[in-house]
Amino acid sequence: MKSFLTAFYTIAICLSLIHCSPAEEAASSAMETQTEAPAQPTGKVEKTAAEWKKLLTPEQFSILREAGTERPHGKIYQEFKLQAAGSYHCAGCGALLFTSNEKFDSGCGWPSFYDPAKAENVKLIEDRSGGMTRIEVRCAVCDGHLGHVFKGEGFDTPTDKRYCINGAGLVYVPAAAQEPKK
Ligand SMILES: [Zn+2]
Repeated sequence: MKSFLTAFYTIAICLSLIHCSPAEEAASSAMETQTEAPAQPTGKVEKTAAEWKKLLTPEQFSILREAGTERPHGKIYQEFKLQAAGSYHCAGCGALLFTSNEKFDSGCGWPSFYDPAKAENVKLIEDRSGGMTRIEVRCAVCDGHLGHVFKGEGFDTPTDKRYCINGAGLVYVPAAAQEPKK
């Protein structure tokens, strides 16, 4: 009887998970992937909200232009963990932000890096929203919100910093796609 009940509950839980997933998957789209690295902008990129809306997906707009946060441990995070060597660019302006060299698995539910790939493309701003003091990470070229950086958490990385970044604000360019064709 006990094993029957266990089996019953297991099936019930599985069914409820199956039932939930399609809506959640639809709410969290994949990280944008390109085979060629976007060109580094030559100067600051400034656009109106209406111009950004045309250029970005609703999820990218919510994160980059409205400082939104994607769902932790979502589809993008699962993809990020499986991605091979490559570079991560701003989905707004194409600036190089991070590479897989600085990527690490923090287990926090969002893409994590211990350092930017190109420091001048990333700017840090004190963020006192939500009753806490955090350091916000933005793209220095287009001023898009990327996430936050946390220090001194004890991660075994060269900097002990965790750039906790919304994957939806990034464009992934696999290194394999950038190798010159023979
Ligand atoms: Zn940008």
